[in-house]
Amino acid sequence: MANSAANAQTALDYIRSRMEKARRRFGAPPEDVELVAVSKTFSASDIEPFLEAGQTVFGENRVQEAKDKWPELRQRYPDVQLHLIGPLQTNKVRDAVALFDVIESVDRDKLAGVLAQEMHRLGRSLPCFVQVNIGAEPQKAGIAVDETADFVARCRDVHGLDVVGLMCIPPDGQPAGPYFALLSALAKAASVENLSMGMSGDFETAIAMGATHVRVGSALFGRRPAASA
Ligand SMILES: *Cc1c(COP(=O)(O)O)cnc(C)c1O
Repeated sequence: MANSAANAQTALDYIRSRMEKARRRFGAPPEDVELVAVSKTFSASDIEPFLEAGQTVFGENRVQEAKDKWPELRQRYPDVQLHLIGPLQTNKVRDAVALFDVIESVDRDKLAGVLAQEMHRLGRSLPCFVQVNIGAEPQKAGIAVDETADFVARCRDVHGLDVVGLMCIPPDGQPAGPYFALLSALAKAASVENLSMGMSGDFETAIAMGATHVRVGSALFGRRPAASA
């Protein structure tokens, strides 16, 4: 458990060195892969050592939870960049736009419209990722694979969102590589630059397939309670 700044530093160094090795081993572009430290379920006091160790980019999957812990941390660590990586209900959009810096879970027109409206209202144009239901799993969020390019175009041209990338969570218990390759192909077809893919168990594979952002939780912070995984 990384509960001191030194332990947090060790955990960050270890993940970063694995990221760099993967990047070099596969000769994969880009030069720099962003590490999004997924701090969901962890308390402000668990997170603080990572801030102390210099980590600035964090991911949370619930708006309310993020609202409870981040405003206070942010006052002391103003460089923080917070990514929303979980499903977003339209009634939480106002809070999400006020709190987050990047929205990674745009997956339907209604949400895209409400997001654009709130961003306009608050004068905040947040970079967005479109989440793709890459394994066509009924229980998972995300736009369908074959609707992705059209949806990205609508997000940009109809809703006016700044779509910078695609995000996915591949099915459990299967090799993730083919899903990452599919997301990469979809990104090319939709003309988006960034790929948010890869978690604790598969971020090296994701980097090999061109991830620009990896979302790593348990490998940094330790195990979460099973219900929140
Ligand atoms: C929890 C979560 C992660 C991190 O998962 P780990 O396996 O703990 O690294 C990444 N992405 C999303 C969308 C998540 O909800």
